[in-house]
Amino acid sequence: MAEHPEKPAHGPREATRLAPSPTGALHLGNARTFLVTWAIARQRSWRIILRIEDLDGPRVKPGAIESCIDTLRWLGLDWDEGPTIQSHDLAPHADAMHTLASRALAYPCELTRTQIDEAANAPHAPDPGSPGAESRFPPELRPTDLAPRAFDNPDTNWRFLVPPGEVTFHDAFAGPVAQSPGATVGDFVVWTKRAQPAYQLAVVVDDHRQGVTQVVRGDDLLDSAARQLLLYRALGLAPEPTHTHLPLVVGPDGRRLAKRHGDTRLTAYRQAGVPAERVLGLLAHWCALLPAPEPITPAGFCSAFKLASMPPERVTFTEEDDRWLRTGS
Ligand code: GLU
Repeated sequence: MAEHPEKPAHGPREATRLAPSPTGALHLGNARTFLVTWAIARQRSWRIILRIEDLDGPRVKPGAIESCIDTLRWLGLDWDEGPTIQSHDLAPHADAMHTLASRALAYPCELTRTQIDEAANAPHAPDPGSPGAESRFPPELRPTDLAPRAFDNPDTNWRFLVPPGEVTFHDAFAGPVAQSPGATVGDFVVWTKRAQPAYQLAVVVDDHRQGVTQVVRGDDLLDSAARQLLLYRALGLAPEPTHTHLPLVVGPDGRRLAKRHGDTRLTAYRQAGVPAERVLGLLAHWCALLPAPEPITPAGFCSAFKLASMPPERVTFTEEDDRWLRTGS
């Protein structure tokens, strides 16, 4: 029997990825997600791909990619493939757009964010720090003359025609999930007027072509999973990955870790002379591996980590945590 034409050329081995966005330096929250992803992968012999996601967000500053890779190494993580740089080959994403457009599943849309927000009567998406955050696109703005077309103007935003109904899946950490992207975000952007794939399409195309079967990431992206599964189905890509969404690290105000919570960048701790094993010790404590923070090696973390024992609540980064990192007491 002929191979499925879009089946990845990789063998049956499971694979995951570390997918940092080099738009801001890695902080303790990113570090926890990457450490857990790495530990699960090493425990289960998954292939690990390092993929630098330099498409989302503002322009990537010179040196940011190298610094991001160097920081992951300093932390003690390693990988089997990559780094691959997302922006280096956008041909497969354009091919996916040709497929969607030819199936009348995507359409160009020149409406501005303000016009959309006005029509949706909703100011902004709730979590602008996440690549999946996007304003709701009200159904009345969808064009009425949808037909198969060519993907012939890549300098415009293109939206995916979201089918009605629920998408359900089982998240390996969050449990059963049911989402209705048609009701929450509506027709989301798959290609941007910067002539680049938008986050949702970029992740799906890259995960598929790199043979990623296990997506492990922060739960700020849980909302994006249904959108991504819809794209797998619309493009006829298989297999769909298993998702594991991990609780985020937040500041004392309950918001995702950011500059306002002080300098939690790993590079800042490193420059201040904080050993990586102390950082890992705090992350291990946050994962309920240690009753109190104490230095731990990557190998020690990996052998002791249990996904099932990880607390389901978001972790709050406190001043005491910062003091412990800086002083060790
Ligand atoms: N690059 C994204 C981020 O840093 C992660 C995307 C993903 O894991 O799907 O938030």
